[in-house]
Amino acid sequence: MYIFLNEYLKNKFGTKVYKLALSAVTTCPNRDGTVGKGGCIFCGEDGSGSFAAPVTMSITEQIETAKAKIKSKTKADKFIAYFQSFTNTYAPIDYLEKVFFEAISHPEVVVLSIATRPDCLPPEVLDLLARLNRIKPVWVELGLQTIHGETAKYIRRGYPLSCYDTAVRSLNKIGVNVITHMIIGLPYETEKMMVETAEYIGKSGAGGIKLQLLHILKDTDLEKDYSSGKFRCLTLEEYTAILKKCLSVLPDGMVVHRITGDGDKKKLVAPLWSGDKKIVMNYINRELKSLQGKGV
Ligand code: SF4
Repeated sequence: MYIFLNEYLKNKFGTKVYKLALSAVTTCPNRDGTVGKGGCIFCGEDGSGSFAAPVTMSITEQIETAKAKIKSKTKADKFIAYFQSFTNTYAPIDYLEKVFFEAISHPEVVVLSIATRPDCLPPEVLDLLARLNRIKPVWVELGLQTIHGETAKYIRRGYPLSCYDTAVRSLNKIGVNVITHMIIGLPYETEKMMVETAEYIGKSGAGGIKLQLLHILKDTDLEKDYSSGKFRCLTLEEYTAILKKCLSVLPDGMVVHRITGDGDKKKLVAPLWSGDKKIVMNYINRELKSLQGKGV
């Protein structure tokens, strides 16, 4: 049976661990023309992430600012330094070394989590990740989204499935934990295709999975296709039914980091039901209880 992230972290660190969203101020090769222009079809201007602090802040200042917000409401003292937006290994190696060492050296940071693309892991980056991983656990998050070539082309992912496989093997070799993102509800995909993606990720060598509902965001090319009626979004009931099937094919011990997403409400075009997190989570939790006898 898979395990949810909160439970995994509690087992590992003996307490609840909170994420601090940090910015390494990187860009993305799928936006700057190196791999592609315009980015993945669903990607908003914030690079598929959420980040609050001004990017002029140092990493330590960002950590302290994000930590203060959480500490004002909780007794938290363990944190994950999380670089989510854009491609966080797409920068000169000296710069990456400085940023990541600063984050991992913070005494209350227990995990360094880095979101990137599988085609942005050259040998010098792998070497850096290996060194960091000897200090504290390093997680690398890869945005695979789908294993299906036609969909990958439509969403303009910009790399083949074999590139993901190579990246997972390389990261496993240096003992870095891989978390793979997949999107449920991508246009033209059937339920069978989505379950195949989950199954593939489960067998790929990734230690964790993030399952995310497709969000249509304002001012993306995906919005144009959606608005012209080329596809429709899933309902909450459809999403949950597919999610259950995806979870049911995951291997024992796989860590489920997310079962839906938090889109920016101001930019969300569809599906609007996803904007009410409380209703969504209550419904999904109820449904999942029947799958594993407990909620999230
Ligand atoms: S790889 Fe990530 S940051 Fe780059 S365009 Fe795609 S979703 Fe956006």
